[in-house]
Amino acid sequence: MAQAFFGGVHPNDMKAATNEKAIEQLSPPPAQVVIPMSMHFGAPCTPIVSVGDYVKVGQKIGEFKGLGAPIHASVSGKVVAIEPRPYSMGGNMTSVVIENDYQNTVSEEVKAPADPNALTTEEMIEIVKNAGIVGMGGATFPTHVKISGGIGQVTTVIINGAECEPYITGDHRAMLERTEEIIGGASYLVKMFGVDKAIIGVEDNKKNGIDALNRVIAETKAPVIVVPLHCRYPQGGEKQLCQAITGKQVPPGGLPSAIGCAVFNINTTIAIFRAITTGMPVVSKVVTVSGSGVIEPKNVECPIGTPVSCLFDYCGGLKDETFKIIAGGPMMGMAQYTCDIPVAKGTGAMLAFAADEDKTVENPTCIRCGRCVEACPVHLEPLYMYMYEQKGMIEELEAANIMDCMECGACAYICPGRLHLTQTFKTGKQKVKDAAAKRKAAAEAAKAAEAAKKEA
Ligand code: SF4
Ligand code: SF4
Repeated sequence: MAQAFFGGVHPNDMKAATNEKAIEQLSPPPAQVVIPMSMHFGAPCTPIVSVGDYVKVGQKIGEFKGLGAPIHASVSGKVVAIEPRPYSMGGNMTSVVIENDYQNTVSEEVKAPADPNALTTEEMIEIVKNAGIVGMGGATFPTHVKISGGIGQVTTVIINGAECEPYITGDHRAMLERTEEIIGGASYLVKMFGVDKAIIGVEDNKKNGIDALNRVIAETKAPVIVVPLHCRYPQGGEKQLCQAITGKQVPPGGLPSAIGCAVFNINTTIAIFRAITTGMPVVSKVVTVSGSGVIEPKNVECPIGTPVSCLFDYCGGLKDETFKIIAGGPMMGMAQYTCDIPVAKGTGAMLAFAADEDKTVENPTCIRCGRCVEACPVHLEPLYMYMYEQKGMIEELEAANIMDCMECGACAYICPGRLHLTQTFKTGKQKVKDAAAKRKAAAEAAKAAEAAKKEA
């Protein structure tokens, strides 16, 4: 069994609340969906529909430029607003609001290829691009860019079935319920990259998932193998997964392609299969709705843009004592101040806490135990980074390689002093970026002044 990355922690996985519950379809579907024009890494899309337009499921409603992926209508109905709305990344984002006509009318733009197995690599990449597929584990990097940029460099295709964040079980359920689609998507990736096989890495707390995948691989003779992994957070981090599977380390600041790897999430793999075989773009998402604040935790599939309040209502509502709502897992997710945000392509979980999950203390204090250093999977020294950020020592912060921090939360989880380490590093990274931008602007101004002097 593989597992060989540095550091990490062992949080209680808290998956029992939903890991035996089949994925349910949200019912009734939402009366309105609010589709943000940014659900991917890169610049936001531009809406290509207008208020009053009638749109159908799978119709393109947002176009990208540069690095990005298009966005599609997830229900049929009338566009009733295009305006800034709250979204899970914080602040507001231009969103297309569609009033659902409950007809689920599919757009003529959604066309299945005559013979998916006869498609060339270029044709498959074009389908992936047009389907708006992004890293659906939360990274949201455009998948067509990852594939086209990796061809010729990538020798190991990895499907990320680690699902190491506590509470989240959507990928595990997909392994049991959508096994053929995962294996089919992985096989298309093998074809696109021109490699001999894809490797699915799965933590060994999903034994029935591993069995289900192996069964379909044997039945279909697919060029895919499953590698069981020891449970250790953050096993599902791209770099950690690459290291656990190949034994090679992605260099600091580098991408998995630097060691010949490309990593795809389970849901991304399913989306690739659906787009290539049916032409349907990304219009829905499976979300784990869990945590002590949720009356009846479930895995729910819903249209992209569904207000998360509808998900909580479908799960029996929130307990009165709920004090925290998180989009994503408890380690890397983002706390939300409202349930008025929509489900996006990268939303894997909505958690609500009502018990003793929030281990904050009045005066967080570092006792210099060094446990954060042992836990950091990228060999950073969180205690010093914290001190530098707090004291405004930005140069030292940069020299401590804060930009390599993957915000995994392992240090914050293990810290007995309850320091707000991850949050501090998010802010610290922004400060380093701001300082670099200032330096660049000053250098450019000096260069311009010098040029002007020479001309005079
Ligand atoms: S784990 Fe917390 S208390 Fe221990 S050295 Fe790191 S920051 Fe300090
Ligand atoms: S949050 Fe950053 S510093 Fe903390 S353990 Fe993860 S990578 Fe290391």
